[in-house]
Amino acid sequence: MLWDKPKCIVCEKEIKEDDVVVVKMRYPKRKGFTEIKAFLRNEGKFICENCFNNKSY
Ligand SMILES: [Zn+2]
Repeated sequence: MLWDKPKCIVCEKEIKEDDVVVVKMRYPKRKGFTEIKAFLRNEGKFICENCFNNKSY
């Protein structure tokens, strides 16, 4: 598990492993995978594939 139970910001469905998600985020200034993981946890907003396809966000 990369981070604690992320949820879709539209339907609040829990994102499961291997789900396709869209991440809405500001691109981090510092690069590096560790930083990106921490950054996603703090700043990332997830949209599940279903909501993304419906364009309801
Ligand atoms: Zn959703």
